[in-house]
Amino acid sequence: MSNSPARICVLGGGFGGLYTALRLSQLPWEPQTAPQIVLIDQQDRFLFAPFLYELVTGEMQTWEVAPPFSELLASTAVRFLQAKVTGLDPAKKQVYLQDAGPLEYDQVVIALGGSQPAPPIPGLKEQALSFRSLEDVTRLKERLKVLEQSGAEKIRVAIVGGGYSGAELACKLADRLGERGRLRLIERSETVLAASPEYNRLAALAALESKGVWIDYNTELVSLGAEEMTLRFQGQEETLPVDLLLWTAGTGVSDLIRALPLPHSDSERLPVSPYLQVQDHPEIYALGDAAVGVDASGQGVPSTAQVAFQQADYCAWNLWASLTGRPLLPFRYQALGEMLALGTDSAALSGLGLKLSGPLAAIARRLVYLYRFPTWEHQVTVGVNWLVQPWLQRPSQ
Ligand SMILES: Cc1cc2nc3c(=O)[nH]c(=O)nc-3n(C[C@H](O)[C@H](O)[C@H](O)COP(=O)(O)OP(=O)(O)OC[C@H]3O[C@@H](n4cnc5c(N)ncnc54)[C@H](O)[C@@H]3O)c2cc1C
Repeated sequence: MSNSPARICVLGGGFGGLYTALRLSQLPWEPQTAPQIVLIDQQDRFLFAPFLYELVTGEMQTWEVAPPFSELLASTAVRFLQAKVTGLDPAKKQVYLQDAGPLEYDQVVIALGGSQPAPPIPGLKEQALSFRSLEDVTRLKERLKVLEQSGAEKIRVAIVGGGYSGAELACKLADRLGERGRLRLIERSETVLAASPEYNRLAALAALESKGVWIDYNTELVSLGAEEMTLRFQGQEETLPVDLLLWTAGTGVSDLIRALPLPHSDSERLPVSPYLQVQDHPEIYALGDAAVGVDASGQGVPSTAQVAFQQADYCAWNLWASLTGRPLLPFRYQALGEMLALGTDSAALSGLGLKLSGPLAAIARRLVYLYRFPTWEHQVTVGVNWLVQPWLQRPSQ
């Protein structure tokens, strides 16, 4: 075996990749086995996606929800490289980057996340907004500002997809727009939040109703124009005015994941063993939304931050174990429950035998996520900010 340090490339700095890199840097390496760890992301900031809604309502600021990688990794041995990954050659053990030469690895972690599929609905690509990234938030806030500053009596917003993002976004937007908002949540099945525990679903339905959000069940978007949309319900089409349409339905993988020369599942993600390794490639790990994971019991796991975050611990451990001659650990998923934001001062949570909704749940949600922030420095800075902000914003007497 060569004496040069192992090169570990972590592709993607989200819940799977960033947390793997951070855990890797905390493990007890002997000086002779310490690897070179490089984290590559196309963005310069990590995004704590569950708090994306809070940027739309102004409850939080970008630095809190999306801290720069340079800050998060400052006190670690992880090197950050901002670059777009364009490919991977498992035979040559090389990662290809846009505008940079190939990068060689001994072990690689694929944590490039998922993407929002855009079905071929006329007008969708040109007119609709998505809601997954900081750029999406900027675009949405710009459009809302224009609409809010217009003299229009009503602001008509449609959100397609009655999953978590659709329902949470509808509640937050209803609070931001207040009396002027006219919100529709368009869902093609007969229920919203189908995967949620009943307590959360009922709390969300009550919140949507109290905020005046209209839900179109069994309804599909047929086409979208600059100021109108056509919906289909029970075979009947109807064209309605709309000022803004947000598409949150479905999850898929990026073209890059699809094109990787590795085995793919039916959903085009990368199937991995409970050890998070790609079939026939023990040096390639994949986790988070880019992978189809199973846990030690053989059960499939959902595509959530909660799963990616937990997988990161195992991924880091297994990389360490494989380089230090220890046994690998199979991923054991612990379903900790689910939390939903239901407006600016309300949430619902169910899990670990606990059920809570309303303002207290909103505080609990914030605190749980604060605890999940990637570094304790960021936890402390944001936590202190939350404590002092109400005092700073108090009108002087
Ligand atoms: C609005 C919203 C709210 C959510 N709320 C919750 C919630 O409350 N609870 C929950 O459990 N889950 C939630 N999720 C889902 C959760 O965010 C994802 O499941 C989780 O982020 C997946 O982690 P990941 O590491 O696989 O991908 P991501 O966290 O998406 O990270 C992927 C990273 O890869 C980078 N990347 C992608 N392609 C390239 C490339 N070609 N080159 C370089 N870098 C690249 C991206 O910039 C990104 O940083 C939410 C998602 C959204 C969009």
